[in-house]
Amino acid sequence: MYDLFQNTEVAYELKKTSQIRKSIFLFRLITKRFLVKTLSSTTLFFLKIGLPIKWLLKATIYEQFCGGISINECSATIKKMKDKNVYSILDYSIESLQNEKDFDNACEKKLTIIKLSKENKLPFSVFKPTSIGSYELFKKKSSIDILNDEEKLNWLNIEKRFDKIFQYAKNQKVKVLVDAEEFEVQNAIDELVLKMMKKYNDGDEAIIYNTVQLYRKDRIEYLKKLIKLRNGYRLGFKLVRGAYMEKERQMSIEMAYESPICKTKDETDKNFNEALKLLFNNISGLDIFVASHNEESNYLVIDIMKKSSIKNNSRNIWFCQLFGMGDHITYNLSKKGYNVAKILPFGPVKNLIPYLIRRAQENSSVDSQTNRELNLLKKELLRRSN
Ligand SMILES: Cc1cc2nc3c(=O)[nH]c(=O)nc-3n(C[C@H](O)[C@H](O)[C@H](O)COP(=O)(O)OP(=O)(O)OC[C@H]3O[C@@H](n4cnc5c(N)ncnc54)[C@H](O)[C@@H]3O)c2cc1C
Repeated sequence: MYDLFQNTEVAYELKKTSQIRKSIFLFRLITKRFLVKTLSSTTLFFLKIGLPIKWLLKATIYEQFCGGISINECSATIKKMKDKNVYSILDYSIESLQNEKDFDNACEKKLTIIKLSKENKLPFSVFKPTSIGSYELFKKKSSIDILNDEEKLNWLNIEKRFDKIFQYAKNQKVKVLVDAEEFEVQNAIDELVLKMMKKYNDGDEAIIYNTVQLYRKDRIEYLKKLIKLRNGYRLGFKLVRGAYMEKERQMSIEMAYESPICKTKDETDKNFNEALKLLFNNISGLDIFVASHNEESNYLVIDIMKKSSIKNNSRNIWFCQLFGMGDHITYNLSKKGYNVAKILPFGPVKNLIPYLIRRAQENSSVDSQTNRELNLLKKELLRRSN
């Protein structure tokens, strides 16, 4: 079983040889930590002073990790992946909005994407909570501070937008993944999503999934608490390790509080695997969405499913990777009949820059899976040339 993800012919069937070469070039670049740091800040600087570098980004890192500017630009990719039983999750990126009107527009955009997902027979959609409400308000609501009257009103608007999205998604039978964000805003997100799960997750499949970041020290206790309190509704959990480690560490130093993040990668890995076991032990009341490029964690899920005689295509268990990463996991899993999806970010280049910088930083981490992926791409290139 432990060589399943080594099949590069299956993994890269959708990639032309020229695309494989380009991916190797890009992954080589972004595994260099120093280069990523320098390029991230110079890119932001060049954009700030108005240098026309968007075309360069679009032809390189954007093309590797994003589907296109519009849904039309993504449609060929969506179809090609669907032919391999890999379902796109359309992720329209809007970052850093400020006023209530913008948030209302962003909410309408989410509804359009749910509609498009339904039309394209895509089972999931996704959204980032602070794209439909002020980051500062999520932060204040997560703290012990009391909201003033205007903030109370704006918070009510956020609740209404959440409700509108989930109600529509339920009607359309499209599931919704709620992204996890920074520690300082996550309490408010967790509370609101739980409230919505109680309201809408009343069938035998979860409509709403909350994201749980296992690089946080407190998340196993959080999961245990929710499982214990569950009463007549289904829980949906998307498990991730967490994307904001460097920022969280920096913030805890600046604000002088104990970092909420595990001290080592090993601790995060243990947490992730413990969470998996905990959820599978309680599978009758919940749905699991495994969002990881880590081979061991994905093998662990396969192993637990086998040992528990859970069918590969059980509708309560999904695997997912990000577009442009972990293809060896995605396509080999789908070939074996597991439920697999891929997050497909799309939208204007400018909006996707923070996302692209997160991907580059994550891939430059010494412990990341990127070096393995790079070796697999090289192996496939060699296989094709023989
Ligand atoms: C489909 C999908 C959806 C995602 N959605 C979200 C989301 O909503 N919110 C979010 O925050 N992230 C999200 N992510 C990103 C995710 O949290 C990880 O950053 C990314 O997937 C890398 O982790 P991994 O399990 O794939 O692999 P690995 O490469 O095995 O793990 C890398 C991760 O381990 C952790 N880590 C690395 N070094 C250390 C260290 N020294 N100490 C402690 N921990 C360490 C970090 O979390 C790092 O990102 C998503 C990822 C996927 C695939």
